[in-house]
Amino acid sequence: MYDSIVIGSGAAGSTVARRLADSGQKVLVLEKRSHIGGNCYDRPDEHGILIHEYGPHIFHTNEEDVYQFLSKYTDWYLFGHEVVANVYGELLPVPFNLNTLRKVYGKEKAAELERLLLAEYGEGSRVPIMKLKENPNPEIKAIADYVYEHIFLHYTMKQWGQTPEEISPEVTGRVPVLLSYDNRYFQDKYQGMPKDGYTALFQRMLDHPGITVRTSVDCRECLQFAGDKTLFEGREFQGTVVYTGAVDELFDCEYGRLPYRSLDFRFEHFPEESYQGRSVVNYTVSEEYTRITEFKYLTGQQDADGTTIVKEYPFAYTGAEGEIPYYAILNEENQALYRKYAGKLAAFSNVYLLGRLAEYKYYNIDAIVKKSLQLADEIRR
Ligand code: UDP
Repeated sequence: MYDSIVIGSGAAGSTVARRLADSGQKVLVLEKRSHIGGNCYDRPDEHGILIHEYGPHIFHTNEEDVYQFLSKYTDWYLFGHEVVANVYGELLPVPFNLNTLRKVYGKEKAAELERLLLAEYGEGSRVPIMKLKENPNPEIKAIADYVYEHIFLHYTMKQWGQTPEEISPEVTGRVPVLLSYDNRYFQDKYQGMPKDGYTALFQRMLDHPGITVRTSVDCRECLQFAGDKTLFEGREFQGTVVYTGAVDELFDCEYGRLPYRSLDFRFEHFPEESYQGRSVVNYTVSEEYTRITEFKYLTGQQDADGTTIVKEYPFAYTGAEGEIPYYAILNEENQALYRKYAGKLAAFSNVYLLGRLAEYKYYNIDAIVKKSLQLADEIRR
């Protein structure tokens, strides 16, 4: 009856389902949660403020095809997202850029250091902190040490429970030192929010006569991998399965759990116009939470009465009931464990793993949409 079964209805699952349905397939989407949209899920809280239930998701891309694809399902509230770090009460632009340099060193000294940095790396460069720290020039090394200590070390310890040296350089490299006066967090061509929110976007994407969505269904109740056969509701299923969940859970974590970092999101509402006057403040030298997001500034609800914020408290995922795995912890050991699980599915030529969880990767929204479109096209061939 179905050509494909897609497990999960987040950015990965919804995109692949839609692309397959557009090509004429009948697609069944099974979603464990009671709602679609995965961790992009947003909804109005009881005060009417649109909140991101699973943490702030800011869309940004340079990929024209991704932007065009998503634009079929949403208009945009486009803006240049800016972040500041609260460093002992002073607000410094992040990524650390030439404006930050001025704030920290004063105009005169900063001008001198700027010349040095530009001569070394060139205007507009994006220099990962771990690279900057290797620079033998003592003046550049001193800047690197400042940035490392005041922007990266404590935030990373909170977020990952490890130092920047201990985590994958890919992760700190996401927020490089930026040799320009551009205060935006991302430099991508398109950035902003779906105008009616992510849930509405994915709802429209899944709204297709070829797509059936079943929520509150744990796929393990109806889908089994036995020998080299895929069974759906007890019968052999010869169509395609795209799985976007955690792979260890498909096999009852028989080799042990894949490690993840999780987050405890604590929401607070204030009957005031504003809490921090901006969308995101990172706490890079103090506090137990990593950052505070004030949603109205992210979603274009500046005029709303009252304001809702969220503080993010990271912790090690244990798999306990109610915990959510958010970030794969990228290192050799964990990736080897991941490959062991993924290898178990290699015998099933009709099963594909897709997304942050299923691929054990750190994907941005645009990257996973791109990958999902490519996968659907590959499946159709
Ligand atoms: N990071 C940091 N200080 C900051 C911002 C980022 O140390 O003020 C590091 C930290 O290790 C973080 C990583 O850079 O996990 C990636 O940051 P990003 O903002 O991309 O994280 P996400 O929004 O995906 O949680």
